[in-house]
Amino acid sequence: MTRFLTDLVHGKKQNDNVTGAVNVPVYTSTTYAYPSAQANVEYDYSRSGNPTRRFLEEQIALLEGGVAGFAFSSGVAAIHAVLATFKAGDHIIIGKQIYGGTFRLINEFFAKWNLEVTPVDTRNIAEIKKAIKVNTKAIYFEPFTNPLLQVSSVKQIARVAKENNLLTIVDNTFLTPYLQKPLALGADIVIHSATKYISGHSDVVAGLVVVNSKELAQKVYFNQNAIGSVLSPENANLVRRGLQTLGVRMDRHLANAAKVVDFLQTSVAIKKIYYPGIAGTKDHEIAVNECNGFGGLVTFEVAENVDPEVFVNNLKLIQLAVSLGAVESLIELPCKMTHAELSQEEQQKVGITPQLIRLSVGIEDISDLLADIKQALQKATVKSVKSTKAIA
Ligand SMILES: *Cc1c(COP(=O)(O)O)cnc(C)c1O
Repeated sequence: MTRFLTDLVHGKKQNDNVTGAVNVPVYTSTTYAYPSAQANVEYDYSRSGNPTRRFLEEQIALLEGGVAGFAFSSGVAAIHAVLATFKAGDHIIIGKQIYGGTFRLINEFFAKWNLEVTPVDTRNIAEIKKAIKVNTKAIYFEPFTNPLLQVSSVKQIARVAKENNLLTIVDNTFLTPYLQKPLALGADIVIHSATKYISGHSDVVAGLVVVNSKELAQKVYFNQNAIGSVLSPENANLVRRGLQTLGVRMDRHLANAAKVVDFLQTSVAIKKIYYPGIAGTKDHEIAVNECNGFGGLVTFEVAENVDPEVFVNNLKLIQLAVSLGAVESLIELPCKMTHAELSQEEQQKVGITPQLIRLSVGIEDISDLLADIKQALQKATVKSVKSTKAIA
């Protein structure tokens, strides 16, 4: 058996072409000829199965240590296909800080299905236990939350879920299988927005699901085919190509993020840093136990005398944009961008202040990134008459 970094590059060898191509071809054909009317064919129609997509699906299943993988046209489509395995009257427990699009899907779309939900702080195991009801079927959460990077224990949550006969569903977009393998920690289903780190280049929208049993595989496959939100062969190829460099990209993301944190810790222009790599918190402890690294996102609050909007507007290299996990650094103001749907009061309640900034640290030269941050902080700092300290 080959190891993870090798599997990233090679996937599961497929020798179905006559050319010797080293990469799986992009099969654009929508339909496949039957050798005879009696034939039992593997592929008949591209929504139901496509060799390029299948290669990626088998590869992500291999990387996550699961039974089967599925590729969708977006992360949200993947989440939809998983949640659509539940039926009216079922109850699921969800993390309070899950991705906004997931929250909308559950609260505005699945509400019409009569899918009952209870949002909890999944860091609090007692709160999870208290939320379990007779009709509870699953716990759905993100181990690292957005944007505050609060860490929940997959191990502890999966244990509670097993004791109560519930499924553990993990959206692991922020970590990828390079940094954490939730199935090995006890989860049943892993979901990714492959739009982020897995594809890694801000050029494809995609979603992936991996399950740990044949029974779940059948249910998710049924929904994938029935709902039809499949990943195109062209995009499956882009995600496959992204996966090949996931290891080297993540190594640089991690190294750069650590250096950005080091710098922010020394800067008087920064009030607070949210990064699970910083020792001394319970988040850090769990991350050390369950992850192979702390990720490429760094969230921080600028000091009161720093204007967050002037700061982001003055960055020259780091681009002001939503999304994350790509080779290029992206920065955003959660209160104005990713979390703008929340009222000011709701934002405050979950810790999203106007000073809060989320940085997706890219793989550029760290000196250029730090220089960019420093010059923009300087421009954004209102020097009070009393303050004599040099900024940054
Ligand atoms: C982006 C994201 C999604 C949604 O994925 P899309 O590919 O945009 O549909 C889901 N979960 C998390 C954690 C995300 O960051």
